[in-house]
Amino acid sequence: MTVAKYVIGNWKMNGDYALVMQMIAALRSMGPLDNVTTVICPPFTLLHSFAELLGMGHIHLGAQDCGTEISGARTGDISAAMLIEQNCRYAIVGHSERRRYQMESNEVVAAKAANAQAAGLMPVICVGENLAEREEEQAEIIVEEQVTAVLKKLKNAAVIFAYEPVWAIGTGQVASHSDIAGMHDVIRARAAKHDFKDVAVLYGGSVKPENAGGILALGGVDGVLLGGASIDPDAFIAIAKTAHHLP
Ligand code: PEP
Repeated sequence: MTVAKYVIGNWKMNGDYALVMQMIAALRSMGPLDNVTTVICPPFTLLHSFAELLGMGHIHLGAQDCGTEISGARTGDISAAMLIEQNCRYAIVGHSERRRYQMESNEVVAAKAANAQAAGLMPVICVGENLAEREEEQAEIIVEEQVTAVLKKLKNAAVIFAYEPVWAIGTGQVASHSDIAGMHDVIRARAAKHDFKDVAVLYGGSVKPENAGGILALGGVDGVLLGGASIDPDAFIAIAKTAHHLP
């Protein structure tokens, strides 16, 4: 049986209206792809333009973050309800750049994921060890802690994790297939322990058109989370087509 794969693009703090138009044109010519769920997460400021121009069912919108609170005195934050109003269906939480530069703890990430879920967004929860943690053979422990902190706060419903080893993000260094498969099993086992059954696990970290096929073909990989490749329309579409053509 062929299982649908996610191809999710995180534009980070990149892109402008011109790139939105370029991407929309490319996505229109791509058309819908069976067995692929395609999601774009542009900066907040481009969500509205994207939604206005998108007008088609085969691409979904996601946000790169979501607030810990429902509303109120949180200057600069964006609530889950605001994201729903901007036609988002997904929200990335716990990206390693936010954990690092905004000092987001596992508890903060868990609060964001719970808020996203409560509002009707699908949380895409990023987890992953840094290089020092890997070298100290702590990778599994770190990832298990990150996963557990979130699952404790979530209602038992569908959820997406993205395993993104920090040392693989934007470096051109991809985790080995056996490391990816092994950590995906760890995440799934932890989810099963908490009785979560509808769990998708994606890989992220220097995925490009050249290496996407091998990663997407791995048994426990339900899709990919793309950074750099997501702001290159040709690369993004090439990866979505690779997912579509998997046997
Ligand atoms: C990311 O930041 O989530 C990511 C996977 O980035 P890149 O694909 O550029 O490594």
